[in-house]
Amino acid sequence: MSVPSTVTLVDVFPEDLQHLVGENQPLNEFLWLGIGGPARFLAEPVETGQISELVKAAKSHDLAVRILGHGSNILVREAGFDGLVISLSGPATTGLEISGNRLKAGAGVKLTHAAIKTVGEGLGGLEHLVGIPGSVGGAVVGNASAEGRDIGSVVRSIEVLDENGTAKTITAEEAGFSHRKSTLDGLVVLNVEFELEPKDVTALTKRMQKLWIHRGQRRPSDTSRIVMPFIDPDSMSTRDLIVNTGLSGLREGDVSLDLSAPQYLVAHENATSDQCLRLIERVREQVLLQTGIDLRLNLQIW
Ligand SMILES: Cc1cc2nc3c(=O)[nH]c(=O)nc-3n(C[C@H](O)[C@H](O)[C@H](O)COP(=O)(O)OP(=O)(O)OC[C@H]3O[C@@H](n4cnc5c(N)ncnc54)[C@H](O)[C@@H]3O)c2cc1C
Repeated sequence: MSVPSTVTLVDVFPEDLQHLVGENQPLNEFLWLGIGGPARFLAEPVETGQISELVKAAKSHDLAVRILGHGSNILVREAGFDGLVISLSGPATTGLEISGNRLKAGAGVKLTHAAIKTVGEGLGGLEHLVGIPGSVGGAVVGNASAEGRDIGSVVRSIEVLDENGTAKTITAEEAGFSHRKSTLDGLVVLNVEFELEPKDVTALTKRMQKLWIHRGQRRPSDTSRIVMPFIDPDSMSTRDLIVNTGLSGLREGDVSLDLSAPQYLVAHENATSDQCLRLIERVREQVLLQTGIDLRLNLQIW
């Protein structure tokens, strides 16, 4: 049930939070795809404590809450999101602290920065994730993976807020990591503690650089308005599946699968969210029809 449109920002948020919140705010500029409708309320907290207060205010008015990391895995529908979006790409959760073989990283830290920092300290475990766009929080919630290894395998504990805005720390086991999944949906990830392995800095750096270059080469080079909508099924890469089913370059209006790297969906000028959704559905239908494989969606649809 949506909250009546007569309810405004000043009704929902206490005075000391109101300067952090905007009403009817565009989300497209936060998203890799650059499309989609506005958020009814968009908050950009600057301190961790404000995040909990924002969640509590929304809860007390039955407003749905979504967390925005770096926007590389979200598609917002044309109608926008009728609730509160809290952006964690600002300064509220950007701490990065190494102690021994442990790294504590704020949810808003760029995953690539965390990888580079730990490699520089001779700590292995994140180097293979370098170049994956997005934040530490987004990566942990979606259990980002590359080279056959997921981020959950080096997580020790996670500081979260529950749906009432109450802080707690949960273990990696409680986060229920499995292939590109966790059970953290509905929680706000604030900080993540990683347990890493001491390794030779030079060897780690070489591996990281090689993977980074390779990852860059596999992406469409002429645009950054891309997402990777599907999760690789266990047996095969999405890229191979799409190539083998003859769907590379498939187009729906101003949205297409890339021709040479068809695991990426590209939003061209005038692209719409509806076109993205239709293209995704066509790909899933065709792949299912031709191979019997039901592609799982990675992209989060708001
Ligand atoms: C070019 C490209 C290459 C990619 N390559 C890979 C790859 O190799 N491997 C891979 O696994 N993924 C890959 N992805 C997918 C994407 O980069 C990852 O899913 C990334 O971890 C998302 O992080 P984000 O900060 O951008 O999350 P967002 O897109 O901002 O959010 C994604 C989801 O996470 C939730 N979320 C984000 N932060 C938090 C938080 N702090 N607390 C609670 N919920 C949160 C959001 O609500 C949303 O549901 C790729 C994407 C692109 C565009």
